[in-house]
Amino acid sequence: MVWNEEGFLIPQVDEDACISCGVCVKKCPALQPAPARDDKPRHAVPTYGAWNRGLEVHRASSSGGVFTALAEWTISQGGCVFGVVWKDKETAIFTKAETMEEVLPMRGSKYIMADPQGAFRSVREELRKGRRVLFVGTPCQVNALRSFLVKSYENLLTVDIVCHGVPSRVLWQKYIQETELRAGRELSHVSFRDKDEHWLRYNLTAHFVDGYKYSEFYGENVFMRLFLSDVALNRCCYCCRYAGVPRQGDLTLGDFWGVQNYHPDWPLREGIGALLVNTPAGDAALKAVRSAVECREVPFSEVYAGQDLLHDKGKGRIHPNRSALMSSMAKLNLPELRDRYVGTVLIGPWAVSRTSLMGKLFLKACKLLQKLNRRAGGIL
Ligand SMILES: Cc1cc2nc3c(=O)[nH]c(=O)nc-3n(C[C@H](O)[C@H](O)[C@H](O)COP(=O)(O)OP(=O)(O)OC[C@H]3O[C@@H](n4cnc5c(N)ncnc54)[C@H](O)[C@@H]3O)c2cc1C
Repeated sequence: MVWNEEGFLIPQVDEDACISCGVCVKKCPALQPAPARDDKPRHAVPTYGAWNRGLEVHRASSSGGVFTALAEWTISQGGCVFGVVWKDKETAIFTKAETMEEVLPMRGSKYIMADPQGAFRSVREELRKGRRVLFVGTPCQVNALRSFLVKSYENLLTVDIVCHGVPSRVLWQKYIQETELRAGRELSHVSFRDKDEHWLRYNLTAHFVDGYKYSEFYGENVFMRLFLSDVALNRCCYCCRYAGVPRQGDLTLGDFWGVQNYHPDWPLREGIGALLVNTPAGDAALKAVRSAVECREVPFSEVYAGQDLLHDKGKGRIHPNRSALMSSMAKLNLPELRDRYVGTVLIGPWAVSRTSLMGKLFLKACKLLQKLNRRAGGIL
């Protein structure tokens, strides 16, 4: 896998090493038929609002802290955990944790594409030894792991996270450079989901090597605005084959957005996780961590209402400004990219507001063209 110029990992065949066995094509999840959609009524998915009973863990996690409870249980059973850590401030990678100390850096969402490196092979080795393995990743990564493993293992527990899509790593690198330049200090690491103020009004907090830290409301932060406005995601995220139900993991973890409308008395400040139980293995794992996790069953519709990425179509269409943004990433800084590409659509050389009549008509035309393209067999 190599990083392309847009900042996403893509497969590249090393022609010198290739023996033309065709396994890469046979196994590539993107080249397999799309996973079947559920014909069961959605309310059949057991759904919970969930949070870790340990306040410290709860506060340190992005959402409800259910991941840490699952990891703790796996380690206590002599198993190991595969999750995502920062390799350096620019790169997120999958690693294996054997102890809770090694699990701690996995906590917290890293809003960037994580490099699986050799993790899938390592998962297979551990499974073959008969050890319990917990693997947590995006739905496409869980699907890829299952495709790689070929057979199913009783000692494997997979968890997919509800995924917004991954933003460009080039954008992330630009954020680091520009933040360091502005602050005149070297960045050490970033917490994308700092809940010190409130889970619903979380901050992005940048920590610097000299101990200085700087927090910014996610809605004001330039990187988060570009990420959450969908203008700089990986191309395949716009038509994600793994959004919707059924899910790829035994369990699904996400944020319970909108929970304040149904359960205002729950600990909203620390954050409520949404938990879907997709398989009997997921159900057994949930029973095993019940003493560490507060779990309240809710109708699936409550979680579904706040999560576009649980809807079958996901985003459904590529952002009309994506190509323009990608081609100007080298020339413009992040605030310039935000001003130009978020909240506006580009019609030729003109940046027109998305909510103006012209903008609305243009977006409708784009949608129609993409629909026709999809019908003709194109991906987008
Ligand atoms: C790129 C991305 C997009 C997301 N989009 C949404 C969304 O739209 N809606 C929503 O409800 N939730 C989303 N989440 C999930 C959410 O932020 C929480 O991770 C999830 O609710 C679990 O919370 P927790 O408190 O139990 O776990 P935490 O303690 O926060 O643990 C996070 C887990 O996520 C894994 N992880 C972290 N970064 C990555 C990564 N880059 N790739 C793969 N795995 C990673 C870690 O290994 C760990 O297992 C997203 C997460 C990521 C990484």
